[in-house]
Amino acid sequence: MKLAAILVAAGRGTRAGGTLPKQWQALAGRRVFDWSYQALASHPAVDTVIAVVHPDDASQVPDGVEAVLGGATRAASVKAGLVALEGRSFTHVLIHDGARACLSTEIIDAVVAGLQTHDAAAPALPVSDALWLGEAGEVAGTQSRENLYRAQTPQGFDLVKIAAAHKNADNTAADDVAVARAAGLAVAIVEGHEDNLKVTTPDDFARAERILRAQSGVQMDIRLGNGFDVHAFTTGNAVILCGVTVPHTKALLGHSDADVGMHAVTDAIYGALAEGDIGRHFPPSDAQWKGAASDIFLKHACELALERGYTITNIDCTLICEQPKIGPHAAAMQSEMSRIMALAPDRISIKATTSERLGFTGREEGIAALATATLVKP
Ligand code: MG
Repeated sequence: MKLAAILVAAGRGTRAGGTLPKQWQALAGRRVFDWSYQALASHPAVDTVIAVVHPDDASQVPDGVEAVLGGATRAASVKAGLVALEGRSFTHVLIHDGARACLSTEIIDAVVAGLQTHDAAAPALPVSDALWLGEAGEVAGTQSRENLYRAQTPQGFDLVKIAAAHKNADNTAADDVAVARAAGLAVAIVEGHEDNLKVTTPDDFARAERILRAQSGVQMDIRLGNGFDVHAFTTGNAVILCGVTVPHTKALLGHSDADVGMHAVTDAIYGALAEGDIGRHFPPSDAQWKGAASDIFLKHACELALERGYTITNIDCTLICEQPKIGPHAAAMQSEMSRIMALAPDRISIKATTSERLGFTGREEGIAALATATLVKP
């Protein structure tokens, strides 16, 4: 058997939200397409993978991936892939939906095994839920689920036979199995898997992400971010550090309240999210942030983490200065940061060091702060 695969990725579906068709959207650190392609290309039985993409998406195709342009319908796209395989000595072909990103080695194994005895083989799952007939929102009857299956891909075929069947088909068939059966091919049903879902809705994306993480042995997405900030001293009688006003012989100079510790923590969270820094979200050129209390920035970073599905599990902040002494205020800072971040105090570390009278902090020209944040997505 010499096996090729056609990855059908020419659809325009954006039901998952966003403006890009779903196969080009991000999923578990890569794109839906990349996962589907990788599943096929890395299987030892698959010699070649041809992607079929929409003309508008040609630039999305990674280097080194063979791609042809699809047609107006799924059947036309499959045909374009089959034409690209003509005269290349392949004996069999797998045809796979680009949106089934969680394809496992086992399913490909099962389809390949089915092709040893049949002209066609396709994965499916027996229907296990009760089936109803509905009318105007009410149950109007029940339907036996005996011998009913939910079809999946990749669907495997004798290449010459499916190419001939597609040439004679009228483009109305639901899938390639329907085309094969119309041409008289026997199609073996092999075992599919619940995880081999077609990624369509935002819920599907969340589920597929969990499946892919489990498949690759990564149970959690753990991220670290760091932040560093400096503010110079100016005249005044207090500094604000980690939300606490500390009496001093000087103040800190800055566009906002110059809370150097809170800024470092905020940048650490943005950093973990690969979301730049405070300046990106709150441009200093924008007058409305002049003198702003820095908890606005910190709350925004925390909300962004939550929106992206991350839990902040701890932060560690080091203030670097000779004066004022931080120790007596550290507990108040921890408690204030805990309130702003809605994070337990034992997950918030505020500590301080001097720089042994060296450098700008040693000369008491300003205060520096360094912070680390850990974010976890289960
Ligand atoms: Mg700052």
